[in-house]
Amino acid sequence: MPNPAPAPEPVRLLLVEDDQETAAMLAELFADEGYEVDVALDGQQGLHLALSRKPGVIVLDRGLPAIDGLELMVRLRRVGVTAKILMLTGHGDVSERVRGLNAGADDYVSKPFDLDELIARVRALHRRHLEHTDLLPLGQGYLDPRQREVLTSKRGLVQLSARECDLLRTLAVAPDVIRRRSDLRTQVFPEATSESIVDTYVHYLRRKLGREAIHTVHGLGYRAGVV
Ligand code: CA
Repeated sequence: MPNPAPAPEPVRLLLVEDDQETAAMLAELFADEGYEVDVALDGQQGLHLALSRKPGVIVLDRGLPAIDGLELMVRLRRVGVTAKILMLTGHGDVSERVRGLNAGADDYVSKPFDLDELIARVRALHRRHLEHTDLLPLGQGYLDPRQREVLTSKRGLVQLSARECDLLRTLAVAPDVIRRRSDLRTQVFPEATSESIVDTYVHYLRRKLGREAIHTVHGLGYRAGVV
């Protein structure tokens, strides 16, 4: 007899939605799908729960009181939260979606949404969260964090060390967000005593991938570039 498939690891899902009726309906729906659901009714509570409960997937409404959905996402990405984020957007506007994706959203669904589509998209993000199968774009090329490889247009396939990969992944997950050296030091090199370790690894990455791979934002920090 074939072995039964292992039960999927339960994933904690954070829902940030200020419309109470929608929040209650979606929370029940996701719980039925097997998620461990936390609900936040404003951006401030969303920030708190995202940091304390460490969800694998976040379903985030774009328009929220206290902290706006886009601003909340930027803050989460800035402090290194790598949970998969699906944004619920009321805007049909393409530029609004592009802004969301560049600020670190993994997917979006427009309101009014189809429930089956929403569930399917959340499931796809959940799978990507568990399998770490994301390819993160860096201009024309991309980073494959699982293989620790970067595919570049000029240099072909480039292998990274674990730390180089962690640093690049932290930047590439939200390419428009500027990351402070102090935050990168805490997140990627927690044992290091000096922020200069960040500069050292930026230097290693540029040597392997080219100068444009990481942008220096003077006085502020670093941001993902192109390979
Ligand atoms: Ca709203």
